[in-house]
Amino acid sequence: MQTQGHYVLNMALLGKTIAPKHNIAITIGAILPDIPIFLFYFISKYMYNMSEAKIWGEAYYEPIWQNIIATSHSIPIALIGFLICWRLDWKWGAILCVSMVCHCLLDLPVHHDDAHRHFYPFSDYRFNSPVSYWDVNHHAKIVAGIEAGLVLIATPLVMSLLKTPYTKGILIFINIIYFVVYSRMLGINIVLSQTIRTLVLIAVAIATPLIIFVSRNKKQSLKKLEYYKINVLDKLRSKDNTNH
Ligand SMILES: [Zn+2]
Repeated sequence: MQTQGHYVLNMALLGKTIAPKHNIAITIGAILPDIPIFLFYFISKYMYNMSEAKIWGEAYYEPIWQNIIATSHSIPIALIGFLICWRLDWKWGAILCVSMVCHCLLDLPVHHDDAHRHFYPFSDYRFNSPVSYWDVNHHAKIVAGIEAGLVLIATPLVMSLLKTPYTKGILIFINIIYFVVYSRMLGINIVLSQTIRTLVLIAVAIATPLIIFVSRNKKQSLKKLEYYKINVLDKLRSKDNTNH
């Protein structure tokens, strides 16, 4: 699954059930397993200047990277982490570990020849699923469609858990990314030209300070309302009571 999809689905799965007040723990647990892959890509591409073909065809299968990625995608390691946190009464850590397990369980059915070793270090077994979320030779056009659909369905649930305009904006952005990526997979190129890309960047550049401005003022207005309530309404009420 796409990393940002893990975030949305884990938030909906856990935030709406066992951990409604632990957005950060769920988010970190959802993203953490894929961090070594991003790190690997960054190092290979920008420090070793490798081609895409070499990165995903050779370097990705180096034992050192495979072991690091297997560790972060290990169900038993995440479960051991969960048990330790549970024993220590550290709910935040326990939820993070549960979120990591959810990440692994969602990855398990959608990786074909790039399947992770989800039972590492106890077993090197890889479940080479007949379907893949990215490989069009293994039904990715259907699987990615289902994945994007699930993210879209989960979005309103997750939106209700988010409090700041930034996180809500990120959630909308994730949906746009899914839309663009899936359209490309189907052969429809949504982002047509450099001009559109530039326009999007300008829009983001204008929208960001606007969101900050609105959210700051919202806080101030809420404070003013609170002040009004305490100082004016409550005093009026107490006067009312003394008159009677
Ligand atoms: Zn993953």
